[in-house]
Amino acid sequence: MSKMYHCCIALDALLRLTLEGEKVLVDAETGKPLEEREIYELVKEMKADGNTVFTPGCDNVDSDGRCRGHAVK
Ligand SMILES: [Zn+2]
Repeated sequence: MSKMYHCCIALDALLRLTLEGEKVLVDAETGKPLEEREIYELVKEMKADGNTVFTPGCDNVDSDGRCRGHAVK
């Protein structure tokens, strides 16, 4: 059985790009880019959980926040 993995972004890279003014994350509901302070808040929470990366859309992450993989039929 093969596995598929979600890709992720390092929290530090996310912060750096945000500092440089890049609109890295978009609100899935509204389609609008997240505000700088929303991203800082998100990263702060994830770092407090011990994560070093952010894996959007994944419900099976390890303690770093990285995708553990999903079985594919
Ligand atoms: Zn995943």
